[in-house]
Amino acid sequence: METSGNFFIIITGLVLFIIISILIFLLMGKFELINQLQVGLSKMRRSFNELDEQAKLIVKTDLELNKAQEELDRRLNGLDALQKASRLISTTLDENEIFNRLNQSLMTDLGFEKSIILVFDDKKKLHGRVHLGLAEGDIGSIIPQMEKDTHLTTALLEGHTFSSITSPKQRREYIQKLFDVEHFVLSPILSQNGILGVVFVGNKSNASAITVGDEELISILANQIGQSLENARLFEQVFRSSQILESKVQERTRELASVLEEVQRISKTKSEFISAVSHELRTPLTSIKGYASLLMTGKLGDVPSSVKERLEKINTHSDNLVKMINDLLDIARIESGRIEMKMENYNLAKLIDSVHDLLTPQMRDKNLQWQVEVAQDVHEILMDIHQVERVFINLINNAIKFTPPQGTIAIKVAKNNNFIETEVSDTGIGIKEDDLEKLFSEFYRVDNEINQKVKGTGLGLVLVKKIIEVHRGKIWVTSKIGVGTTFHFTLPVS
Ligand code: ADP
Repeated sequence: METSGNFFIIITGLVLFIIISILIFLLMGKFELINQLQVGLSKMRRSFNELDEQAKLIVKTDLELNKAQEELDRRLNGLDALQKASRLISTTLDENEIFNRLNQSLMTDLGFEKSIILVFDDKKKLHGRVHLGLAEGDIGSIIPQMEKDTHLTTALLEGHTFSSITSPKQRREYIQKLFDVEHFVLSPILSQNGILGVVFVGNKSNASAITVGDEELISILANQIGQSLENARLFEQVFRSSQILESKVQERTRELASVLEEVQRISKTKSEFISAVSHELRTPLTSIKGYASLLMTGKLGDVPSSVKERLEKINTHSDNLVKMINDLLDIARIESGRIEMKMENYNLAKLIDSVHDLLTPQMRDKNLQWQVEVAQDVHEILMDIHQVERVFINLINNAIKFTPPQGTIAIKVAKNNNFIETEVSDTGIGIKEDDLEKLFSEFYRVDNEINQKVKGTGLGLVLVKKIIEVHRGKIWVTSKIGVGTTFHFTLPVS
């Protein structure tokens, strides 16, 4: 019984052992699986972590991209607003209109919460010309503080732009407090003559920070405003000066017109006086000359030679006086328009020839050479033949008088557009530069040796000038001492 009991125990033990071994074997298999699963799980966890990291990176990049896009949009809007502002303010020269235009569109387009343009007046006082997001009261308290802050104005004058990103801490905090903002740009409006004002923009909320791009944008805008203001002020100055000048010109013109009227009145009185006196003098002079001539003939009794000599002098002086009176009368007549020009077409070369014939004896006396050069295209011209003849006689007579023997008198006539230009030249004593402009004044005679010997009236050239001017021509003289003199005059062809 005991043996079978032991056997049963042994068998049972064996079976148990086998079962346990199988179980151990099976459990070992499971552990292997668990291990494998755990390895897989940690692998999965790692991949999951990696995925999570990547997702976070993607979200971060996306946020940054959005921010960059926003910044880009803001800059594009800013640039657009700046371009619009430049166009608007550069097309007006009126200072008020510049600020009107800035007011209407620009400040809103720039996209800042607060903005203001402050401008100095003549007394260096600041005025808010354009503002947005700031109450009148705020501006009223900002201005005095800015005016007082010489450090700030000096720095602005030196062209410094301040911003919440580039300004030193102390300055930054001061401006933040002054304008009650967190982010800002403050840029000077400069011109060639110094600071004209400032442009300020700012944002109060922390979310809308200022960028370097904003700083550049505002400083460009300030420059643009400076240029436009300078142009407008220059234009205003020029306009004002031109108005002052115009009123001065008008005033002077009125004065000149009244002076001219007075001169004309005096000149008329003078001409009338001269012609009245000359008429009165001519009659007695003719009698004096007549009696002197009669006495000289001896018909009234013998005349001793000493008396005859004096009578001859009376005769010559009377002739001079008559000539002077006639010249004076003619000048007065031409001046008052009482002499009527008998205009007709006549050949100038023919006229010169006849004057030459008339003066040949005097020229022969001094053995003077005569040269005439009339251009081919000079034909007939419209003139008062008698008066133009007097011009030639006077000028050639003078040339003969002031040219030493063996000299030359030359006449040159050429056509210049619608005018005939004539030159009467001599190789005479010449005239000093100082005397040239006085030659055409009444009674002016140069103090020279010939004039001391030969009598003259100093009226010939005055008469010549009047005749030329009545013909709508001009006369002038060029001369060189010891070389000769040339009188130039023009006459219109028709
Ligand atoms: P007058 O000959 O009677 O003195 P004019 O009016 O004809 O008066 O001339 C004024 C002055 O101009 C003359 O006195 C003379 O001094 C100067 N003058 C004119 N023509 C000449 C000339 N060809 N050469 C030098 N001097 C001249």
